[in-house]
Amino acid sequence: MKEDILVAVIGAGPAGSCAAEAAAAGGAEVLLIDKKSEIGSPVQCGGFLPEAVELSKLMPCARLPQTLKDIPERCILHRTRLQRIYSPSGKHKEFPVAGRVLDRRAFDRHLAARAARAGARVLPATRAHLAKGILQLSGHFGREIRPQIIIGADGPHSIVSRAMGNPVQEMGICLEYEMADVNIDAEAAEMYFSAHFAPGGYAWIIPLGHDIANVGVGVRASYLAGQKLPNILDRFIRDHPIAAEKLAGGEVLAVMRGPVPSGGTRGAIQKGNMLLAGDAAGHVMATSGGGIPLAMVAGRIAGEVAIGQLQGKNPLTDYPSRIREEFGIELARSVQIRKMVDLAMKSDRLMNALFAALSPAQIKSVMRAQIPAPLVSRACGWEGSNL
Ligand SMILES: Cc1cc2nc3c(=O)[nH]c(=O)nc-3n(C[C@H](O)[C@H](O)[C@H](O)COP(=O)(O)OP(=O)(O)OC[C@H]3O[C@@H](n4cnc5c(N)ncnc54)[C@H](O)[C@@H]3O)c2cc1C
Repeated sequence: MKEDILVAVIGAGPAGSCAAEAAAAGGAEVLLIDKKSEIGSPVQCGGFLPEAVELSKLMPCARLPQTLKDIPERCILHRTRLQRIYSPSGKHKEFPVAGRVLDRRAFDRHLAARAARAGARVLPATRAHLAKGILQLSGHFGREIRPQIIIGADGPHSIVSRAMGNPVQEMGICLEYEMADVNIDAEAAEMYFSAHFAPGGYAWIIPLGHDIANVGVGVRASYLAGQKLPNILDRFIRDHPIAAEKLAGGEVLAVMRGPVPSGGTRGAIQKGNMLLAGDAAGHVMATSGGGIPLAMVAGRIAGEVAIGQLQGKNPLTDYPSRIREEFGIELARSVQIRKMVDLAMKSDRLMNALFAALSPAQIKSVMRAQIPAPLVSRACGWEGSNL
């Protein structure tokens, strides 16, 4: 027998749990479904999240959910105060950014628990399949349901996006180790650019404490030229002139791997009774690969729009414009900047020149998806260059 339900949210990551909490708080009957047996685990994330004051500059028009502002201390592993960026030549520039490093396992469970307290039913260990508006759930809470509204918060390989007929997203691929006994600067989240050590992307060191860090590399497949991601990360750790000294002797405690959308939204984020939020919708800042804050804002909006539809206050078709109003400009600009920087990433010489041309404040603006003048003029000069 098919069960009728008002709102089904597929995926209990940051987007899905925020959507489920908003919809349940608005009075809807909500199911929050995740294929993971234990919500939040395994972790596929560096966990870096700027403080709310930084996020309000990153997305000045967005109404940040309370859950982005007040995070329980038990979900925060560490705090950083600087962001340091290394050019291929090894020069660095740094600027203040107050950051939190999340325990994603604890954080995702905290968000799902909030959705549950708001009234959502949570179904872990349950995989969703979608055919002709019917949700077939297999696994622990297997059943068939016919939702009035479906929120696809099911990550980069979203089945809801596929059902909407969207093209496959442009992705970066990431590999990350949690490493202990490393000799890092615990106050700084670091990014390393280099065609050799991180082709078409960057490598990072995100401190989790004074001698423990997430160390990863995120690249685009088209830049790999047959190289394997584990070899690239191992080479960064072993041979990078600056990072190798910090990481020598470190031991790997965990290996995390996953795709990150890198081209913004592709296709529709609303069709019929379906909405997409978070990675499923390409809601990731293309300049940094950071997706947690956008996922949570989009989830909140999706839940609110669903309630508006059920109460006859607004149609679901309002969803794309609500997203555009809150962070559409910043998301589009981040993709535009990434495309400009792509030109430079083809050669370390260009990347070094760009790095030299930008002040620390301008680099911070780039990270916030604001386009400083030197980037525009240099990118124009590079078009057609064969450097
Ligand atoms: C290695 C790595 C490092 C990263 N580091 C950072 C970082 O430091 N800071 C940052 O902001 N972002 C980072 N990101 C990106 C960030 O993790 C994502 O943008 C964020 O998790 C998106 O949240 P989401 O809720 O949209 O999707 P997800 O967190 O991916 O959640 C989607 C959920 O859907 C579930 N699901 C999928 N399909 C189904 C199905 N058919 N049925 C049921 N459940 C399903 C999955 O199990 C999953 O729990 C990183 C990503 C990677 C891969």
